[in-house]
Amino acid sequence: MADVLTYVLHYEGAFNKNSLGAVSEGAARAAEIGGECHAVVVGGDDLTDELCQTLGSYGATKVFRAKGPEGLAQPVVDVMAKVIDEGGHGYALFGGGLLGFEIGAGLAARKQAGVTMEVVNVRAEDGKLVAERPILQDSKISVSHYQGDLGIIIGRINAFELNQSGSGAAEVVDVDVDYSPWSNQAKMVKRGEQRGADVDIEGADILVAGGRGLGKAEGFELAEQLAKAFGGNSAVAATRAVVDAGWYPYAAQIGQTGKTVSPKLYLAAGISGAIQHKVGMQSSENIIAINKDANAPIFEFSDLGIVGDLNKIMPKLTEAIKAKKGG
Ligand SMILES: Cc1cc2nc3c(=O)[nH]c(=O)nc-3n(C[C@H](O)[C@H](O)[C@H](O)COP(=O)(O)OP(=O)(O)OC[C@H]3O[C@@H](n4cnc5c(N)ncnc54)[C@H](O)[C@@H]3O)c2cc1C
Repeated sequence: MADVLTYVLHYEGAFNKNSLGAVSEGAARAAEIGGECHAVVVGGDDLTDELCQTLGSYGATKVFRAKGPEGLAQPVVDVMAKVIDEGGHGYALFGGGLLGFEIGAGLAARKQAGVTMEVVNVRAEDGKLVAERPILQDSKISVSHYQGDLGIIIGRINAFELNQSGSGAAEVVDVDVDYSPWSNQAKMVKRGEQRGADVDIEGADILVAGGRGLGKAEGFELAEQLAKAFGGNSAVAATRAVVDAGWYPYAAQIGQTGKTVSPKLYLAAGISGAIQHKVGMQSSENIIAINKDANAPIFEFSDLGIVGDLNKIMPKLTEAIKAKKGG
């Protein structure tokens, strides 16, 4: 029997969806090994009893609430380490995303615990949890078993589905923490939503995906204009190269370390077609690629390939679609 501890990020009166997925997953798996799922929240007065109790509907039985800076990794590591020291939790489980990776790695170092990143499936085996993660460009699954008192599981972003089948309100327990001296070294300067962060690329019928060939962040305007011309359920997506460069939000990333999509139409502009990108979009119904390099790998799995400069082709395509639609 072991309890599972999760961390739940909070912003402007709402809990982060990825974190709620982790609570749902933690509750389901903890039940399979005879344990409970508990959550840690760190923040200010806006983390009210009522708000924290709602985590019960995702399956958390207890919420450990600490006063502290929200959205920074090291203070959360301090809180989780204390809760685990006192509560003897067997597993810490996080949704993916930069903060989950950072907190999970910090906790692994602090507690000398085993950690598995990019987990897509967790299951119970002989009363313990094991984590599964894809390796070798998603062609194989690696299974991690944990030794020692604590195992740390960090999911791929949105790998864990929300489940609101929990019953009742979670018990809220206030925790006093002496933060480590280094935990106060970083300050939160500003929080905000990224452009496009709320776009539902997984549910879109038409995706205009941009890569490094767009040249710069402003190049994404070509993709946005084209998506707008298509209208309906269209959205803009991106490769990892460009989200890493800060040209477009992570939420729009397609591929091995991003999202998997299967829209009716996937239009790839200035994307080479690396295997890590391909695994996230290859099941699209129709793939059109625009690339100036006739030998770009993307043409190998495109239904229609256009060889040429996207700066010339995309505006013309946008105008043609608008004209066709009578706009
Ligand atoms: C562990 C790991 C995980 C990864 N996960 C992902 C992932 O989830 N998603 C992902 O996308 N990548 C991922 N990558 C990165 C991946 O390997 C590639 O580096 C990335 O997909 C390349 O992005 P890109 O196609 O935008 O850039 P590039 O490979 O640089 O391609 C740019 C393309 O634009 C074309 N081009 C340039 N100018 C123009 C123009 N004016 N007109 C038309 N075409 C033009 C070029 O010919 C080129 O083909 C991962 C890598 C690793 C190692």
